[in-house]
Amino acid sequence: MRALALGVDLGGTNARAAVVDRDSGEIVASHKEPLRDRAPEAVVAIVVHAIREATGAAGISPDACGGVGVGVAGQVLGSTGVVINAPNLGWRDVPFGRLLEGALGIPVTVANDLSVAAWGEKRFGAAKGLEDVVLVFVGSGVGSGLILGGRLHSGAQGVAGEFGHVKVRPLRPETAIRRCGCGQLSCLEAYVSGVNVAARVREDLAAGVPTLVGERVKGDLSRVNASAIDDAFSAGDPYAIARWEENGELLGTAIANLVTILNPARVILGGGVILGCPNLARLVTRHFEEQVLRASARGLSVERAWLGDDAGVIGAAVLA
Ligand SMILES: [Zn+2]
Repeated sequence: MRALALGVDLGGTNARAAVVDRDSGEIVASHKEPLRDRAPEAVVAIVVHAIREATGAAGISPDACGGVGVGVAGQVLGSTGVVINAPNLGWRDVPFGRLLEGALGIPVTVANDLSVAAWGEKRFGAAKGLEDVVLVFVGSGVGSGLILGGRLHSGAQGVAGEFGHVKVRPLRPETAIRRCGCGQLSCLEAYVSGVNVAARVREDLAAGVPTLVGERVKGDLSRVNASAIDDAFSAGDPYAIARWEENGELLGTAIANLVTILNPARVILGGGVILGCPNLARLVTRHFEEQVLRASARGLSVERAWLGDDAGVIGAAVLA
């Protein structure tokens, strides 16, 4: 009989639950549910529903897995299950683990979404067999997951690897200091995440700054995203080139600093902004290679994430 585990990926727009084979990492059944309401009690009900759908499809009951792991896009306080800050959910200090445990009646483990994704890659993906690996994610948000000495590194308060919130300074005169969703000023994420770079470009378009990005989205500001900027870069648009040169240097430098401090064997890249924007990725690579300490880069490999969007549910399941 297969050993099954239960994982949940709780993002800003969806909750996805999956029943996962503990030994192979294979997803046996999964169910995705939109977050119609982000109030904690409503999210608990949505997650419980997603879990019941996924376990039902697998022909088991939730308690057959012995517990559930949840990866949340936010800062999680150690093993308490308390979500300290999840800007996409609008949560501050929500005891999500306790609430979900009360509703489900089985043990709940809550961790940061990128920590669980890194653990998924360690068990079944691009970090398998390696002791020291950093997963860097650049998508709607920015973050990292750290595997150090073969273990998931979570830090004294459980919030290690909050890479999106390291502070940077804009490199170009036209770039103002920006406020991050976490409330602080000048976090890396405030400049380079998909959500934030799109917001910046929308502001500039609304102010009449000339750029091909406006034509690429046919004047519909809601369609501005990182891909549209990358397309405009390919067409030689000076504005798009300026955005990507700045963001490529900010990201490449920050990743170089992370590698210089931690000396991983591998950097795993994930997220649509870095994987789906080849012009940006090339600039990130160039600045990374220029700035990383030579000794830290010896033997280092850079690899795309293998598990993609499944890393979260798989990692959460096997972490539980
Ligand atoms: Zn921040």
